[in-house]
Amino acid sequence: MMKQLQRSLYFLLFVGILNTSVLPLSAQPLKNSKLNEKYVCTPCGQECDESLYDKGGKCTVCMMPLIKKSSVRFKDIDPAKLCNYIAEHPGVVLLDVRTKEEFEGRVKDDYGTLKNGINIPIQQLEKKIKTLNPFKQKEIIVYCSHSHRSPQAAYILNKNGFNKVINLAGGMSEMKDKRCLK
Ligand SMILES: [Zn+2]
Repeated sequence: MMKQLQRSLYFLLFVGILNTSVLPLSAQPLKNSKLNEKYVCTPCGQECDESLYDKGGKCTVCMMPLIKKSSVRFKDIDPAKLCNYIAEHPGVVLLDVRTKEEFEGRVKDDYGTLKNGINIPIQQLEKKIKTLNPFKQKEIIVYCSHSHRSPQAAYILNKNGFNKVINLAGGMSEMKDKRCLK
């Protein structure tokens, strides 16, 4: 919950920055719009994903390359809203990027998995990305246990041309509503 609260605060702060810095510039010629490009840490599922930078380089926290914010095109979904969302969007693809053992519940911390979830562990995602090609135009909800691996997976999907990607914020460990679990 603290993380979500923090995210909301960052978001408000971000909107504040938009209002004060981006809007006045947007009245200037288009060539200046590149100057507004913000950079973020390559999604790594840590707090540093929320930081904004004015230019490229490396994230000082996780040492991952900073990338253009516009290249990160996935959204988050609140675990409390997930089961309803799936019910209302029956075509949505559910991608579990945890290990096979976690997916099958053969681990000490068994958080369960989603009904109709498919499992591609994040370590194999780039290699197996072609198997997801039939779902390229569909919405894909990516999840793991604590939303550390799933943002990385969501970004891999974005890089490979999947544009309707949603990350389960907090991961399966935050799923209190069990209706859509297997
Ligand atoms: Zn980082």
